[in-house]
Amino acid sequence: MGCRDCPNEKRRAWDKFLAIVEGWTNLVWKNSRMEEIAKNRAKICSSCDQLSALGVCKKCSCPVAPLTRQMRKSCPLNKWTANK
Ligand code: SF4
Repeated sequence: MGCRDCPNEKRRAWDKFLAIVEGWTNLVWKNSRMEEIAKNRAKICSSCDQLSALGVCKKCSCPVAPLTRQMRKSCPLNKWTANK
């Protein structure tokens, strides 16, 4: 159960929102640096048992294409990190 007035919970929700926006933005407007990072992350995801047939991470319910194209959120199992 969550606490609506908890600043940490609001902060986490805001961070998640920003990660989603960043990931989808980088998916639509591709840049070479992010694509290189995404390629390495996608390689890790492709051998992970948490990747669904639809390309969604079962651990965090995020589609992997935008998830691997943002620098705010790490893999929920720490198989790759937000900063690389
Ligand atoms: S983000 Fe992490 S847990 Fe999810 S599919 Fe990729 S490697 Fe697996």
